[in-house]
Amino acid sequence: MVSDFYKEKSIQLFQGFKLWKDSKTNTMIVAEKQTFYKAIGSEVEVFNQVNQLKLPLLLKGPTGSGKSRFVEFMADQLHKKLITVSCHEETSSTDLIGRFIIKGAETVWIDGPLAIAVKNGFILYLDEIAEARPDVIVAIHSLTDHRRELFIDKLGETIKAHPDFLLVASFNPGYQKGFKELKPSTRQRFVALSFDYPEPKVEVEILMKETEVEKDIAQKLVNIATKIRNLTELGLTETVSTRLLVDAAKLINNGLSKRLSVHVAVVEPLTDEPETLEALKDLCDLMI
Ligand code: ADP
Repeated sequence: MVSDFYKEKSIQLFQGFKLWKDSKTNTMIVAEKQTFYKAIGSEVEVFNQVNQLKLPLLLKGPTGSGKSRFVEFMADQLHKKLITVSCHEETSSTDLIGRFIIKGAETVWIDGPLAIAVKNGFILYLDEIAEARPDVIVAIHSLTDHRRELFIDKLGETIKAHPDFLLVASFNPGYQKGFKELKPSTRQRFVALSFDYPEPKVEVEILMKETEVEKDIAQKLVNIATKIRNLTELGLTETVSTRLLVDAAKLINNGLSKRLSVHVAVVEPLTDEPETLEALKDLCDLMI
């Protein structure tokens, strides 16, 4: 296992590089990573602009629509290091900024991902920012305007952001009842880009490039997704994402039957409601 290899050799995995084993020569090869991302609209141009102007960027869109992949791609393109924080309801400003820890007889300060990114000029990607606790939003305020500084209250210090620091956040506005919203006053601190599932032709291309699945199967998977996405009367909280299609294609490529692959990768993640599950499985069986 490659991960065991890192542990054994204490090799640090640097983002922007990939490492694999060449079976012929039995050596490990390190090469610059080529993240695959298929641009859908003007997002690359907008990212390049916000990067030059040091403006914070908000990516809005449903789960699995390529937001994180896009940020990874841009980090690679710009040769910048990327730190991603997947926010959840317990994510606090302390998790991002840093904390004191007890080490032997001493108390030492440990920078959190935000402080590291601010000091070193990395991209910080706050995935699902609306899920985080409100103090996270307060903590990033002074970084999202002309000040570009981070106040570390526990140290009583204010740090000026490195010129290359860039803040990117994502948010899923499509969630229905019960999910968190992002306040207008917060949204207005960001330049915002909308993401959605790509048009069918492009989605087929993504599936083929991402998984090397045959065109015919990719097309059928995209047809299924398009059909289910249009079934708004089912009232699904979230619909079929490109990510789910990628998973289904991988399973099919790996030898699982087409029907079962679609059942487990596409239908089951969508709902727990028995009747809807059955109806969707029947529909998919006809289409794959
Ligand atoms: P999000 O961050 O919006 O939840 P991801 O970026 O994790 O979604 O996308 C999920 C998966 O879908 C990716 O790992 C990739 O396989 C695929 N994907 C979605 N959109 C694209 C795209 N435009 N180009 C390449 N792959 C994509």
